[in-house]
Amino acid sequence: MQVMKKTDRGLSNKNLLNTFVELIRRASSDLPVDVVTAIKEGLLTEKRNSIAYKTLQMILKNIKLAKEKSLPMCQDTGTPVFYVTLPNPPLSPFVKGGCSGIRGIINQAIKESVHKLYLRPNIVDTLTGKNLGDRTGPGYPVINFEEWEKDYIKVILMLKGGGCENVGTQYALPDSRVNAGRDLEGVRRCILDAVHKAQGRGCSPGILGVCIGGDRVSSYEESKRQLLRSLDDRNENPVLGKLEQSIMKDSNRLGIGPMGFGGKTTLLGVKIGSLCRIPPSYFVSVTYMCWAYRRRGFEYENEKVRRWLY
Ligand code: SF4
Repeated sequence: MQVMKKTDRGLSNKNLLNTFVELIRRASSDLPVDVVTAIKEGLLTEKRNSIAYKTLQMILKNIKLAKEKSLPMCQDTGTPVFYVTLPNPPLSPFVKGGCSGIRGIINQAIKESVHKLYLRPNIVDTLTGKNLGDRTGPGYPVINFEEWEKDYIKVILMLKGGGCENVGTQYALPDSRVNAGRDLEGVRRCILDAVHKAQGRGCSPGILGVCIGGDRVSSYEESKRQLLRSLDDRNENPVLGKLEQSIMKDSNRLGIGPMGFGGKTTLLGVKIGSLCRIPPSYFVSVTYMCWAYRRRGFEYENEKVRRWLY
């Protein structure tokens, strides 16, 4: 109840706003350690002075510069996708206005981040093509809300690049085009087909988030959510864990390499989850993330950050 009092004084909102702005700065300019480590490991596998080697070197230089200068690491600052987990009803609204209060704070944080050059003002009205100026509008940013039993807020932000979003795809099994039946071998064929079709588009080396099952929407959503996992974690499901490893191995043998210039580093990671389905449907959804795998997060309690994530 102490939290409620603070909320009533409206203090949390200002502190939370500043925390969201800092979250966006970190996500846009400072790539998580697990991703940088994976790119460095990729560099070691490439032939010295090959185009793949030089491309990865350039990517690493770019990452370092962005961090030092607090500037976006890519000209495409991506679609901001937020995952907000709030304390459950006895403590809600944690912030004035509950979910809509948080939405307002996030919109404000986006506007401030555009002003501070952490994000580009490049959101347009789809029908007119008119730039909306401050990066907020219907559907932007994307915010997913959840509740949990804990008494603090958890927020994760992913900045999802447009080029890599374009090469994401979905299969409905069976799929005769890739000779994929409704089994794990069929799933494997679909995922490898997606990597092969992407080639260097979507700015490889990439990271795949995959969901098997669900309906069309939940399947895509879960595939994106898989990208919240750290690159070095292990799948709790041994069958899916094995599939992740085999896709990694086979993809990096395709010779696509960084930006499609050839080489061994086509993927940096594969994360696969599954959802229940009804018998008529069997979806395999693939979300492709580029090397600029920008995800950051924080936990927030008693008006301050208790922990930064990633
Ligand atoms: S796909 Fe990623 S690396 Fe490529 S332009 Fe978009 S954000 Fe940048």
